[in-house]
Amino acid sequence: MDQGQAIWIKDPLGIFADGAARGVVVRNGRIVELVQAGGRPATTGAVAFDASQHVVLPGLINTHHHFYQTLTRALPAAMDRELFPWLQALYPVWARLTPEALQLGVSVAMAELLLSGCTTTTDHHYVFPAGLEDAVDIEVAVAKRLGVRVLLTRGSMNRSQRDGGLPPDSVVQDEDTILADSELVVAKYHQRGEDAMVQIALAPCSPFSVTTSLMRATAALADKLDVRLHTHLAETEDENKFCERAHGCRPLDYLEQCGWLNARTWLAHGIFFDAAEMKRLGKAGTTISHCACSNQILASGCCPVCDMEEAGVGVGLGVDGSASNDASNLMQEARAAFLLQRARYGVAKVSHKDALRWATKGSAACVGRPELGEIALGKAADLALFKLDELRFSGHGDPLAALVLCGAHRADRVMVAGKWVVSDGAIEGLDVADLMRRHSAAARAMQAG
Ligand SMILES: [Zn+2]
Repeated sequence: MDQGQAIWIKDPLGIFADGAARGVVVRNGRIVELVQAGGRPATTGAVAFDASQHVVLPGLINTHHHFYQTLTRALPAAMDRELFPWLQALYPVWARLTPEALQLGVSVAMAELLLSGCTTTTDHHYVFPAGLEDAVDIEVAVAKRLGVRVLLTRGSMNRSQRDGGLPPDSVVQDEDTILADSELVVAKYHQRGEDAMVQIALAPCSPFSVTTSLMRATAALADKLDVRLHTHLAETEDENKFCERAHGCRPLDYLEQCGWLNARTWLAHGIFFDAAEMKRLGKAGTTISHCACSNQILASGCCPVCDMEEAGVGVGLGVDGSASNDASNLMQEARAAFLLQRARYGVAKVSHKDALRWATKGSAACVGRPELGEIALGKAADLALFKLDELRFSGHGDPLAALVLCGAHRADRVMVAGKWVVSDGAIEGLDVADLMRRHSAAARAMQAG
């Protein structure tokens, strides 16, 4: 497809945008025109794409995930456990991760995400057993092949059981190695500017698997390199207790002491912040990735999303997992967040549009990309188009509401930076059956030990 060729996504069945009832025109990777009801595009030579069977959303943005965990889904040894024992059951299995297995795990996660309407995803990769030093390189290669926009993190763990942490020695690295490699992968892969397809952030795993020294040094390095910062925080009561015992304070105080309480940082979970802490987060510009499915499966708790937003904290969505979710489907995640938050706050405060907003514009703030996550003039041409032709949608009224309320889970078409990467529900150039065969074999080998 010629990038200079304008495409009119014409007459959508529904669209999550104002003033675009007759669709949008995209060119050179951007949205260049919104076409109002009764109007026609002013852009000359635009080729029409008939969207009369499609509901059009801004591409969904996934703000928290661990791709490699697709290799350990629904693992009996980890099932029915809360976070800490769940992690302790999984660390020895994850220690067996190989470059080949990671490549397959990443491919599966990214494919699942794309097919669910996700156009930009983060990944929090923090397991670096010996032999897996090129993990970020592997992830970048898969993202480029599949055409998804990514903010990959160079994660880390350096506080093992020997030093009072949770993970075994076999999955951690030392601080110097981590910092040197962080600098290297940023220099190698981090693109700047609004058209960036690959970006890198720095992401120590959590306060209970990383030393204070590494937390501080990572924040300083992110500042120096001007990249984003990510970690898990306030996910469980166990973490609060760990923090109070190890550092004599609550997780957010600890985060601030480490130089992390700023607009560079987005945090996964954020369940256990009190009202005063939410105000501090809002003032600092730190954002939260809400992971509704993971929080429910691990019974961690419920992120107070509406209180967060009222305190000025931006909230996006993350599928987390895949060993805690155990899925990588962002459209289903939007429905899960809608249900969980509506149950908590009631019908007047949470609508299907809130869930879609968290999955798009809210998530864009988490990844520091205001040019994404919205169908508006000048924004990136990242779009997800869903058909309502399955049994589950039969008899629907409002097409946009039907996506969330009837449980859409598979996009028919996905556009990233103006290019179709999913057509007729399939990813261009990907043999899914072959991928599943190889991924399943790798998962079985890893789980068997
Ligand atoms: Zn996580």
